[in-house]
Amino acid sequence: MQLLEERIRKDGIVRERNVLKVDSFINHQMDIGLFEEMAKEWKRLFAGKPINKILTIEASGIGIAAVAAREFGVPVVFAKKSMSINLDQDNYRTKIQSFTHGREYEVIVSKKFLTPGDHVLLIDDFLANGCALMGLLELVQAAGATVEGIGIAIEKGFQSGGERIRSMGIQLESLAIVESMSPGGEIVFRGQP
Ligand code: 5GP
Repeated sequence: MQLLEERIRKDGIVRERNVLKVDSFINHQMDIGLFEEMAKEWKRLFAGKPINKILTIEASGIGIAAVAAREFGVPVVFAKKSMSINLDQDNYRTKIQSFTHGREYEVIVSKKFLTPGDHVLLIDDFLANGCALMGLLELVQAAGATVEGIGIAIEKGFQSGGERIRSMGIQLESLAIVESMSPGGEIVFRGQP
């Protein structure tokens, strides 16, 4: 998606250890106009799929997923990263290895909000090694729900997650795929002439 690629080129900052910082428009300050355009693109790419729910993960996926949910006209659920006293005891849970924080954490979804009748679109900001998505897929599977597809804002194509997910036969739509990047250097996108 050209608009997103241009924005990443303009405002993205490449850090050491393969981290792309996009906190001026996605991860801290959020550009809702951009999110709306991304949501429209996913709506087009997943047209015809019987999606009745969007699932994302706390915290950075929530903003994008909320705008996408509005576009699809469905509820959005986010997997919670820690146990709170507000959370039902009756829930699905799994462990995920965090790319950015380098540690393992537990994610939880209440059984009330993910059921066998659900046709789910997973949404997240980044796809790196695929750990976050594998965790969400496990939660959907545990609930007996159906995954209709996955929408990602930025996939880092030089990491293994995209290949892993696509080899599972799941429709994965990443709006920008970074082929290569280095601190201070050029960011190259897949399909770029
Ligand atoms: P994965 O589980 O696919 O290895 O990593 C995906 C998760 O890690 C995303 O939910 C995202 O929050 C975070 N992440 C991975 N790579 C990056 C990155 O380069 N920049 C930022 N800001 N977050 C990332």
